[in-house]
Formats: sequence, C-alpha cells, structure tokens
Amino acid sequence: MPVTYSSTRGEAKSWKFERVVLQGLAPDGGLFVPDSIPQMSMKEIEALRGKPFKDVAYAVIKNYVDDNEIPHKDLKKIIEKSYASFRDQPGCTPSIKYKDFWVLELFHGPTFAFKDVALQLLGNLFEYFLTRGRIQNAITILGATSGDTGSAAIYGLRGKQNVNCFILYPKGKVTDIQERQMTSIPDKNVHCIQVEGDFDDCQALVKKAFADKDFKKAVNLGAINSINWARVMAQITYYFYSWLQISKPKSTDPLHYAVPTGNFGDILAGYYAKRMGLPVGKLVIATNSNDVLHRFIETGKYAKLQCNPTVAPSMDISVSSNFERYLYYLAEENSTVLAGWFRSFEKGGVIEVSTAAHAKARSEFASYSASKHDMISTMTGMYKEEKYLLCPHTATAAAGVRALHKKTQEYAHNKTVILATAHPAKFEEAVDLAIGKNHGIPRPPELEILFSLDRRRSLVSNDVDAVKAMVKRRMIGAGSSILYSINISTLMTIGSLGFMAYSICAK
Ligand SMILES: *Cc1c(COP(=O)(O)O)cnc(C)c1O
Repeated sequence: MPVTYSSTRGEAKSWKFERVVLQGLAPDGGLFVPDSIPQMSMKEIEALRGKPFKDVAYAVIKNYVDDNEIPHKDLKKIIEKSYASFRDQPGCTPSIKYKDFWVLELFHGPTFAFKDVALQLLGNLFEYFLTRGRIQNAITILGATSGDTGSAAIYGLRGKQNVNCFILYPKGKVTDIQERQMTSIPDKNVHCIQVEGDFDDCQALVKKAFADKDFKKAVNLGAINSINWARVMAQITYYFYSWLQISKPKSTDPLHYAVPTGNFGDILAGYYAKRMGLPVGKLVIATNSNDVLHRFIETGKYAKLQCNPTVAPSMDISVSSNFERYLYYLAEENSTVLAGWFRSFEKGGVIEVSTAAHAKARSEFASYSASKHDMISTMTGMYKEEKYLLCPHTATAAAGVRALHKKTQEYAHNKTVILATAHPAKFEEAVDLAIGKNHGIPRPPELEILFSLDRRRSLVSNDVDAVKAMVKRRMIGAGSSILYSINISTLMTIGSLGFMAYSICAK
C-alpha cells in the first residue's frame, strides 16, 4: 500500500508526501494526515535499542515516505545530514533522570530549541525536492516570527540551493539573543526583515502576500509553519528514542510524557508515536496562561480567548493550529463532522464535542495550566535542589507533572518524562527572575559568540507592497525570470507540484 495523505476536511485526497510537504496547508483549509497510521511491532521497536538517534529517526520516518517517492537510501542520507548538526552525538535528544521525572532534552540543535529537530530535516527535504530531476524550481519561504521559529527556520534553510528565506519580525520586539541568532547568518539566501509594527502586523503582512495570487506564483511562495506534516513527522522520532533509552530491555511498560504546548505540534507527535505502537501512557498538555487546550480537556469546549504575553513567549497562542489533527481522530476520521466543527468555530469561536468524545480525550490526555508564579518558582526550586536550570516553557511541564502527581499518584518519577523544549539561556528574563541577575552561569559559547558578530537586517514599513518589492528584488532566481516562469508553469501543467501557496504564521 502506497503511503498517501488526505486533508482533515475531506476535499484533498490521496496526495503524495512531496506535494504535502511543499504545499503545507490543504486547499480546503484542512491539514494533511496520513491515510493510515503505520504500525511498528514491539519486536521492531526492541531491535532499535542502543542505536544512535539518527538510526531510530530513520526507522520511524521511513514508514511515512514511499521508497519510490524518495528512495530510502536517499532518505537515510537526508536524515543523517539533518542530525549531524546537533551538538550531542550520537544521542541528539538525550533523556536525563532527576528526582521527580526524566527530562528529555530537545535543545541540542543549532538554535537551542526543539524546533530544530523538525526544521533541520525540513530544510534538507526542500532542497532535495527542488534540486532533483531535470526541471529545477526555486521556492521562496516567507514567514513572520516573534522569536523561536524564525531562527530555527533560518538555520534549517541557510545555504540551501533553490530556497529563498525571508523572515519578518517586529522591530525592537524580539529578545536580543533571538535577533542576533537570526541576523548573524551570512548566507545570501537568508533575509531578516524588521517591520515597523508588532508581531500581529508581521503576520498580517505575510497573509496579505499569500493572498496575492500573482505574487505567489511569481516567487513560488512556500511555508514552513508548524502545521507542515513533515514537522510533526520529524518530532515522532524522539518519543521512540527516549522510550528506548529509559525503558528496561524487553519491557513494554508505558511512559507518560508531559509536553510544553502551544500549537500542539510537539505533543501531537507523541500521539502518533502511541498510535504507531510505542508504549505511551498519558500525554500531559502543559500550557502557560494561554490555556485554550487545558480548558478543552477540562470542559470539552474548545473556545478561543485573547492571547496574553507571558514569560514563556513561544507558547503564547490563542488557538492551537495542530489541534485540528487530533480533533479529526476524535471525530472518528469523519471529515464531514470535522468540517462542521470548524465552520462553527469560524462563526462563533467555539467547538463543543460530544460527551463521549470528551471522555475519550480525557482518557488520552491530561492537562495543566501554569501561572507565571508556577513557572518561575519551579525554575527556582529545581535549580536550588538539583542544580538544573529549566527554561520557562519546560517549567510548565515540570509544574504540571508535580501537581497532577499530588492529585492522582499517577506520575511516578520512573514512569514520567518531561520534554525540555528550549535551553534556558535563550530566556534570560525568566532566568533572572528565577535565580537572580547575578547567577554567574555563562552562556553556551555558541550563543556568546553571537554578541561579536555583525547583524545583517533590513527595515520595511508596515506595508505589503514594500515587502513584496523587497522579496522580488532579493530572491535568488529572479534574474532568469522568463525561464523561471516557464519552469513553474510546466510543473503546474504536469501537476507534480500543484499550487504552491499557503499561509504561514511561524512563532
Ligand atoms: C514552539 C515552542 C513550544 C510549543 O510547541 P508546539 O509544538 O507549538 O506546541 C514550546 N516551547 C518552546 C521553547 C517552543 O519554541
């Protein structure tokens, strides 16, 4: 059976992996899910014990990509190249035992946040798709960021052939380290653009650019936001890797995973790991005060509220874009029901599921919403007692596990893993609040060196025409625009790429 993908909302059916990855969002507004979830037996899983991260990653990912779409020997190379950039080898995503839980460290990639696990792979997949074959095509990635995704995307796409990368961010409104991470990259295909406005303005500019069909076609616009299937897929790998690292040989005992959650991409990967056959117990959704998902687990109502800024900014969202994929499974893979839910969400900002569906969600997920005090005091406590500094996002999961264990006794230290989504050095404000400004902990050398590098950035007004003009002027491939447009229309005609337009709102 070939591996194919269909939209949660039912109109796009049986698409191939390449088309799904290049397109991002389905044309009907839904998200792509695999037509069947591949299974791995305990025997297959056991055979991976002791293997390096890259081998476990390949064993998981190859189930989602047909050998005749990407020959698996090429896929293996792409995966090896993607994870060679991680500092911790051969583990990449090691798990470490502390008093109350295991910590799965996901921040050993180039930008010190878990998003590298997916974006390092996505960058290489784009390059592979766009440089193979007789007809070569270039893609222009345009995204808005309030910090983390921008740098992870830039490090994933820098220097890639046939890929132009434009990242918009609000002038003066990202942290110093985040801005330095983005703007110190010398590669010619990377363009960091400060916008005179806030993050919402940047997102609105990106949306407007995507809405312009001629522009979209002329520059072949593409997206890398967290709904891209390849990002979810890449994240399934470290659930397998950590389970193999923590569990006893031949064991089938489940582990609980607590995940700092915003757009629901990271934890959704854990759900797929469980559905593939990995012994996963509860998945704990940990949020900051932007708690749309926690409220859903409590009440069965998914209701949008305004987003407010917190000390864990990478989880500041009002809706969780990837949650649609889980809702699709809750609707028993019925696209008609799911599309109906989203029509009501677009009208009234609320989805209310049946009592049975709510009970099912509560059997698979637990949840916790952490206040600012929770996050900071958890960071302080863990540092004092165990000399381990958490980032504020990770602290939501630590606080959640402790609170839930008190209540239910379910989350014993040897059965529970929290996902550490970023290195604390990226979030100095929260660290200073937790352990004082004079903590004397040096920055990792890779972040320290950023302070001596030149910054390369430009400034545009909050005006979509100015942004479009800048993209057209700077994109690589624009010099041969006639040849280039023939290439695109040829591809369109043979239908191998289809539309290349989708929206992006990277955080
Ligand atoms: C993006 C991000 C999150 C949220 O992950 P989702 O997949 O959006 O739920 C959590 N922590 C950090 C540090 C992040 O950068």
